[in-house]
Amino acid sequence: MERQRVGLFGSTGSIGSSTLDVLARHPERFSVEVLAAHSRVEPLFEQIKRFRPATVGLVDGDRRAALEERLTSLPSSQRPTVVTGQAAVDELAGTANLDIVVAAVVGTAGLRSTWNALAAGKRVLLANKESLVAAGELMLDVARQGGATLLPIDSEHNAIFQCLPAEQAALVGRAGVVEENRDIERLVLTASGGPFRDRPLDDFAAISPEEACAHPNWSMGRKISVDSATMMNKGLEVIEAARLFGVCAERIEVLVHPESVIHSMVRFVDGSVIAELGEPDMRTPIAHALAWPDRIDSGVAPLDFGALAGLHFEAPDPERFPALRLAFEALAAGGSMPLVLNAANEVAVESFLDGRIGFMAIPAAIEAAMAHFAETGGPPLPSSIDAVLDADRAVRDWTATWCSSSPDRVAG
Ligand code: NDP
Repeated sequence: MERQRVGLFGSTGSIGSSTLDVLARHPERFSVEVLAAHSRVEPLFEQIKRFRPATVGLVDGDRRAALEERLTSLPSSQRPTVVTGQAAVDELAGTANLDIVVAAVVGTAGLRSTWNALAAGKRVLLANKESLVAAGELMLDVARQGGATLLPIDSEHNAIFQCLPAEQAALVGRAGVVEENRDIERLVLTASGGPFRDRPLDDFAAISPEEACAHPNWSMGRKISVDSATMMNKGLEVIEAARLFGVCAERIEVLVHPESVIHSMVRFVDGSVIAELGEPDMRTPIAHALAWPDRIDSGVAPLDFGALAGLHFEAPDPERFPALRLAFEALAAGGSMPLVLNAANEVAVESFLDGRIGFMAIPAAIEAAMAHFAETGGPPLPSSIDAVLDADRAVRDWTATWCSSSPDRVAG
């Protein structure tokens, strides 16, 4: 079998390092051709030494000299071509000689590279859920036009993908227009409930960024950790699931399952429920999508049923987690409202991580942005990737002003 050439965008992040861990187990099957990150030269250089990519993308051009200085310690035959700047790095996702692109950049910053890879017909392993939330149908259209294969590695969507009948999963993989499947009654997205499931609501205003980033089950980047703590992560996933699997909001259920052993489920009309289970480790969905429809070793320990104390389930608490309600509202409103939700969330999370707003000001900022843009009737539904990014910028500017201009909102 010829080796498949992989490009990893967001290589120095949590998904990036899990992906490299899986790839390292299968050198006969995959070669790492492109590694791309934003600015963290040290971990990028360690990855270059180990995986020897032909090309490296570094968005922050100011860090180029620091990277090149380290590269001089390698024999010249092992030095990759270095590409810097956001546009040039994003372009690599479409133009480099790649079979597989792993879209693991965090946030809206990952939209353009994901778009380029889909337009060029690559097999795209999608971790960057923000792409599907902000650009929605446009992203799926470009995947169809490009003849791409789109495989979710978000653990919930990957689990649902695995629970679907094979021919329907194949259709999803082609970003096909999924008919409302009458055999499926509901998709059930499980949620750990994050670190604050049991914390008294009165204490929520005092939650610190460090507490919010300490997830009980999953080890993840800071933005998605905060999203998990507010449950906006689940909200974004509801919208992602609606897009990927072609189901409406009413047919998506969120269930808190603190052990994160069941990664998601499909309820069928005959009463059957099919679930995907395993250790909470992103290497499983990554390995699944890398090899699909084959299976390969991921390095994840087998699930030990004897060691499980039990599996628990509860409905999410709407008072603690208003972000989830907002996501369902954005999905029901349609148009560009999911884009507004996503952009406002990113700005509010950044503001929270920088200590400028309190934890409960995150959903308050999103709700304010949604109300503002609903009232003013905009932004219009974008018809191109440039329009998506323009609309995203407009929402960001508005939300940044909201976050910074009202000290009374800072208390959360
Ligand atoms: P991290 O914060 O750990 O990593 C982010 C990566 O993106 C880093 O490599 C970073 O580079 C790079 N990056 C940041 N900004 C840019 C930019 N402007 N252009 C190019 N690269 C950039 O994030 P995660 O790995 O946790 O998450 C990545 C994506 O995967 C998110 O969309 C998240 O929602 C999704 N996801 C994550 C899961 C997880 O378990 N972590 C689970 C499911 C989905 P640098 O290091 O140089 O800053």
